[in-house]
Amino acid sequence: MIDSAAIRQNLSVLQGVMQRTGAHILLAQKAFSCYALYPMIGEYLCGATASGLYEARLCHEEMPGKENHVFSPAFKAEDIDELVQICDHIVFNSLRQLSLYGAKAKAAGCAVGLRINPEKSTQKGHAIYDPCAPGSRMGVTIAELRSGLERQPDLLELLDGIHFHTLCEQDSDALEVTLEEVVAKFGEYLPCMKWINFGGGHHITREGYDIPRLERCIRRMRDGYGLDVYLEPGEAVALNAGYLHTRVLEIQEKEWGRIAILDTSAACHMPDVLEMPYLPPLLGAVAADCSGACGGSDGSGEKSYRYRLGGPTCLAGDVIGDYLFDHELREGEILTFCDMAIYSMVKNNTFNGMPLPCIWIKNGNELHLWKEFGYADFKARV
Ligand SMILES: *Cc1c(COP(=O)(O)O)cnc(C)c1O
Repeated sequence: MIDSAAIRQNLSVLQGVMQRTGAHILLAQKAFSCYALYPMIGEYLCGATASGLYEARLCHEEMPGKENHVFSPAFKAEDIDELVQICDHIVFNSLRQLSLYGAKAKAAGCAVGLRINPEKSTQKGHAIYDPCAPGSRMGVTIAELRSGLERQPDLLELLDGIHFHTLCEQDSDALEVTLEEVVAKFGEYLPCMKWINFGGGHHITREGYDIPRLERCIRRMRDGYGLDVYLEPGEAVALNAGYLHTRVLEIQEKEWGRIAILDTSAACHMPDVLEMPYLPPLLGAVAADCSGACGGSDGSGEKSYRYRLGGPTCLAGDVIGDYLFDHELREGEILTFCDMAIYSMVKNNTFNGMPLPCIWIKNGNELHLWKEFGYADFKARV
């Protein structure tokens, strides 16, 4: 269930940043492609960014007239003609791709950017989410840029902008550190550019995020280099705006404790729980491992009933986590996971023939069933 009022609240925070700084903020569709809400998102943001042709088409169709940007680690030759027709910005991941497709993009009126790798890790723990980690395939390092431009100096003229994306759920102090590195390493190229794109991973709508520091970073590029500044958050647009309702199918008493088997699966419906990994907040319960800090309390008493919550698939590790409740769980009871709008419906799958959840959209007091999936969807996807 997507709460459109919560999305609107996030959007107004992002719009405030745009209004105060002149920055352009885009939705990163890969985090949240719920196009039923694109008209509303388009009222606030400048447009969207895509990871390839399909997301670019989705923005083109469902947010018509708004800015459409695309980045891919490597574009396919057969996609380029359509992409440069429907996109306003295309960002390449290498000088090779820039030399193959840059002139064609410019001829079609599409602005051209290059993703750089400032080689400055600002996150610990999640190496798979760190494009600056050693061995990264993301972005051109300063050494690669210098040696490439020595061989093909004309490539610089194709560039309208620079793009970096190095953050994941981070605050603006990490952005500030990254920007310092970008200026130190790539500063000589900035005066040749029209814009700079700060990528995503900015947790702008999270409580406690330092927005004034973000705005100082934006102004530094605008005022210092005359650049238009783009940001393309995904999470921040739909943070804390979705709920996944699930039913308890069975309670099992094991030697080591109690487990509730749910009709939702971490592997199928919330894969980031296993990939990242993280423990999603659950209404009325607290995380057993961090005793309250991750779950929040509903104030209705002590939470001493401990359950492990697991999915109905064959995967032994299809476990969401351990939670404390203030009552004994019953079969048939409905549990509600929070913050389920982001990276959920875009990443789900039908492994084990698992049904996909319906998607409801809440508008004020009205609930609207937007999507319903059945056996035919499973059959069509395999
Ligand atoms: C993932 C990604 C985003 C959005 O990241 P969030 O963490 O959802 O804000 C933006 N741009 C690029 C290039 C990305 O890969």
